[in-house]
Amino acid sequence: PFVITSRCVQEKAADCVDVCPVDCIIEGDDQYFIDPDICIDCGACEVACPVQAIYHEDEIPAREQPYIQKAVDFFNNQ
Ligand code: SF4
Repeated sequence: PFVITSRCVQEKAADCVDVCPVDCIIEGDDQYFIDPDICIDCGACEVACPVQAIYHEDEIPAREQPYIQKAVDFFNNQ
């Protein structure tokens, strides 16, 4: 799946929400999250994000790796 990382925090531009074909991007308190169980890896959100906050999980910079688990925790607590 794709993962939303630190540049979304407080930014929350939400452009990604409108382009996701499976509606798997959900608003959290401080950022948006992609549900990793539903994402179909289309990449539309990555292109739409105005602050380049979204990466495929295989391409996330090391400093952004914690955002993979942050999303998992968010959906586990839904
Ligand atoms: Fe939605 Fe596609 Fe982004 Fe996955 S990669 S969150 S399916 S827009």
